[in-house]
Amino acid sequence: MKKEQELRDWDRRHFWHPFTQMSCWGDDDPWIIARGEGNYVYDIRGRKALDAIASLWCNVHGHRHPRLDAALQAQLQRVAHTTVLGASHPPGIRLAKGLTEIAPAGLERVFFSEDGAEAVEVAVKIAAQYWQNLGRKDKRRFLSVDDAYHGDTVGASSLGGFPLFHGVYGHLHFPVERLPSPWLLQQRLQGDAEAACASWLQSLEDRLRKSSREIIALILEGGVQGAAGILPYPRGILAGAAELCRRYEVLFIVDEVASGFGRSGSLFYCEQEGVRPDLLALGKGISGGYLPLAATLAQEQIYAAFLAPFGEAKQFYYGHTYTANPLACAVALENLALFAENDLLSSVRARIAQLQQGLQRFAGMPFSAAPRQFGLMAAVPLRNPQGGNAYPYGDRREYAVCRRAREAGVYLRPLGDSIVIVPPLSVTAAEIDLILRVLQDSMAEETAA
Ligand SMILES: *Cc1c(COP(=O)(O)O)cnc(C)c1O
Repeated sequence: MKKEQELRDWDRRHFWHPFTQMSCWGDDDPWIIARGEGNYVYDIRGRKALDAIASLWCNVHGHRHPRLDAALQAQLQRVAHTTVLGASHPPGIRLAKGLTEIAPAGLERVFFSEDGAEAVEVAVKIAAQYWQNLGRKDKRRFLSVDDAYHGDTVGASSLGGFPLFHGVYGHLHFPVERLPSPWLLQQRLQGDAEAACASWLQSLEDRLRKSSREIIALILEGGVQGAAGILPYPRGILAGAAELCRRYEVLFIVDEVASGFGRSGSLFYCEQEGVRPDLLALGKGISGGYLPLAATLAQEQIYAAFLAPFGEAKQFYYGHTYTANPLACAVALENLALFAENDLLSSVRARIAQLQQGLQRFAGMPFSAAPRQFGLMAAVPLRNPQGGNAYPYGDRREYAVCRRAREAGVYLRPLGDSIVIVPPLSVTAAEIDLILRVLQDSMAEETAA
């Protein structure tokens, strides 16, 4: 007990947590998680909860997977870190090859980094320099969508369109042209997906007709605006955007940091629409949720624009100290092997169908609005049964729901006015039922309180 108190005190005194109002830190008994096992985490007091946020959307096969642990330990017997600037190493080489074998066709070149935001930064810089290297100096601006989220570094948040997270840094951001959020457009059209897709593509084409000469690239999240609250696009947005970008000579970047590695029910959402992006950003599930690793995959023709005699200085000037860390690469390689061996995706598709079925219960409840789902991720909006509106921002009622859920054994987090469900891909049918039941009870109890 004394040790626990000491840790809590030090945490409060020294640890500045991300996306956290530290003035309220500790109010809702934040867990100090000491260990994980399979789909569960345990705090320092031994309390257990199902990890229904996949440790921020990245865990794939559960915690302490014997194969992933062994791959990490085996690499640790060799070396923990060496640089890939002017050298290479076996796990990095094998992983680069492995990723190109599973990625959409033509993505033959892999640039490693550490986090999703950085995979986007790398895509931004590659795209910008691609046109510079080709002598197209007039290509200077990016095209993105409202409510996009691509990470929190200055470049990635320039592309983001989230007033709450991104507005305060507006004066630092590079200028970006914006299209409407496909999901919001669909809401305005009474939920008509086909009309929304056609209308969105029309607005893209209008924009490209006007300014494609100056546009470097369009960037879209893969199939869903995740951080904006799990807002799925109408089907066809990605395929249509890819086609228009090709026609108007604008690069197409797809950010599958959240949707990639099985979350959509296929390995990459791009497969579902037959899309071959020019650049693909990957992160989160790439290392099975073990270590910070990300990658930007490029089409051969993009890569080729960086090849020139040394003296022309056309190489890609980018890199970090820990780029392609061997431990992270070794565990990511084993993650790919697990995907290949276990036919994980067919069980993921069964869980996706089960989740869809189970979510229907929330549609008629007085304390929730219609849930949203994309693959194995969902958001259930919390509503005040008196009046049916969201609770005011700052009321933190969503946090109170999550605290109740955790006490009942399910670890969840709010996102805006919703509670999100993003379990590891290894979640079982019984665990999906448990998540839905505990969430429903917690919402009912909290809104009655
Ligand atoms: C999480 C996320 C990012 C940022 O990844 P980090 O690893 O948190 O930097 C970028 N894009 C999308 C779509 C994401 O969901």
